[in-house]
Amino acid sequence: MGSEIQEIKNTIVQRLPSRVQVAKVEFEGPEVVIYTKNPETITENGDLIRDLAKDIRKRIIIRSHKSVLTEPEEAINHIHSIVPDEAKITNISFDDVTCEVIIEARKPGLVIGKYGATSREIVKQIGWAPKILRTPPISSEIIQRIRRTLRKNSKERKKILQQLGNRIHRPITTENEWVRLTALGGFREVGRSSLFMQTSNSKILLDCGVNVAGKDDKSSYPYLNVPEFVLDDLDAVIISHAHLDHSGFLPYLYHYGYEGPVYCTTPTRDLMTLLQMDHIDIAHREDSPLPFNVKHVKKSIKHTITLDYGEVTDIAPDIRLTLHNAGHILGSAITHMHIGDGQHNFVYTGDFKYERSRLLEPAVSKFPRIESLVMESTYGGHEDVQPTRNDAEKNIIKTIYQTLERKGKVLIPVFAVGRAQEMMIVLDEYIRHGIIDEVPIYIDGMIWEATAIHTARPEYLSKDLRDQIFHMGRNPFISEVFHKVNGIEERKNIVEGEPSIILSTSGMLTGGNSVEYFKWLCEDERNSLVFVGYQAEGSLGRRLQKGWKEIPIKEEGKTNVYHVKMDIKTIEGFSGHSDRRQLMDYVRRISPKPEKILICHGDNYKTLDLASSIYRSYKIETKTPMNLETVRIQ
Ligand SMILES: [Zn+2]
Repeated sequence: MGSEIQEIKNTIVQRLPSRVQVAKVEFEGPEVVIYTKNPETITENGDLIRDLAKDIRKRIIIRSHKSVLTEPEEAINHIHSIVPDEAKITNISFDDVTCEVIIEARKPGLVIGKYGATSREIVKQIGWAPKILRTPPISSEIIQRIRRTLRKNSKERKKILQQLGNRIHRPITTENEWVRLTALGGFREVGRSSLFMQTSNSKILLDCGVNVAGKDDKSSYPYLNVPEFVLDDLDAVIISHAHLDHSGFLPYLYHYGYEGPVYCTTPTRDLMTLLQMDHIDIAHREDSPLPFNVKHVKKSIKHTITLDYGEVTDIAPDIRLTLHNAGHILGSAITHMHIGDGQHNFVYTGDFKYERSRLLEPAVSKFPRIESLVMESTYGGHEDVQPTRNDAEKNIIKTIYQTLERKGKVLIPVFAVGRAQEMMIVLDEYIRHGIIDEVPIYIDGMIWEATAIHTARPEYLSKDLRDQIFHMGRNPFISEVFHKVNGIEERKNIVEGEPSIILSTSGMLTGGNSVEYFKWLCEDERNSLVFVGYQAEGSLGRRLQKGWKEIPIKEEGKTNVYHVKMDIKTIEGFSGHSDRRQLMDYVRRISPKPEKILICHGDNYKTLDLASSIYRSYKIETKTPMNLETVRIQ
């Protein structure tokens, strides 16, 4: 066992007042857990723990020793008498392994209380340390499943975390002299993002995506077969956000024996579980199974450590990780890593949006230090300038207004995560202000579940939305204008019914219910089809954008031709990626200035175009590695 662990334990025991009876000090992953027989003496003295945590530079968790825990039945009564009814507790369960009581409530803030007063009172009376979770206003099957998995496997999870704690705090063997990055996927291309970082002491994988449009295994998955990538040596995987081109290949690592942690935000964990499960489902239905299954998704959930934005965490003996808002989708993160004793600071943007959207705040651009930066270039070409959010909204509202005027229906095919929720916010807003008529808005397919996950994590939404939800008591996602669609009968009623707006997946009309709606609606010239996202070459969406008027679709063995009479519109400006102007702006405003910038996540030409423009405008060294190339950054 490393001496660092012993040293930390000694410091804790020395620093706590003698009346605190320390039963045990343990590492659970990056955190230090103190078990005590009189937890109230510590929790009442908040400064003590804050100062101690600062000194040892670790997060500290206080839990009671088993001997002072109240019987669960009695404990439940105590909780109900301490917590006000308005908190609306929906579930209470006990975890003997961690000595925690898990309280799920509609208003978790009221279980915590002012400055944590209520939760402190709970510990004092029953001993169990409260872990407080939000019960979302729209129930989410995925969140329930994840919580169930974690509850059922608490013992295994604790073992995983303890082993990880020992690994993170192992002694450093050599001095930190260098840092190298190897591009394993998503360089000079979009899809299968994966970046491998090695220091003298540790190895980290950033993102592990698939290219869903890939033709074969070779072009679909990152190059994990390079000799330097050895699963047993890997210290950590960090997932920037839930989209499959960043998270889709993660279960594969667990299939092939990875036993280490995944770091990401809570919404990323929830949303990527949703998308991974769906991916496995679709592949199964199409009879082209993936090289992993649901079991491996579950295994990854057990190994996931969620972090809030701004939380500094040790992930290896020489690396401190902090995640920051990326403004791309819910929970998306910019990764900051502090390597060694201040030797190097590295930032990976993942996908990011440097503009405020209805849903999210713009990407963070201020860091304590940066020497090197890896940034995306999806819209890095000089011609990739998009309209502002404001103009985009005006355009879509105009189209919807005109369609409803002529008694038509509006079909908006969207990707389930991100754009769908932004559309919901926009539509709710314009209906509320009476600018468009109050027609029903139908939400079909996976969008509903993704929206439920958004309602479980309001703290990750934009300030405007948070204000609405927390202070004005108005949650736009549960507005009465939205209706969940259940099954084919309801769909038929919708297309035969009154004017309405339909949000449905898939976003590129490559399958899913959006294609069914299209077939029903396309031959009526009063209707509109509105694209708000990217349409890939070869997709039905792209053909319609190009103006095809006759669409052959294979159905039950024969080909039917659909005659397109509905209005086809493309509204630019709703992208979750920064456009060219925002990318350049980001480099101009990022602080402090990095010495070196590597460009990823863009077509070959856009990657090169952005790199040379950054160099010309700001005189910062840029690099555009290809997949399989390694760059030394320190
Ligand atoms: Zn993305």
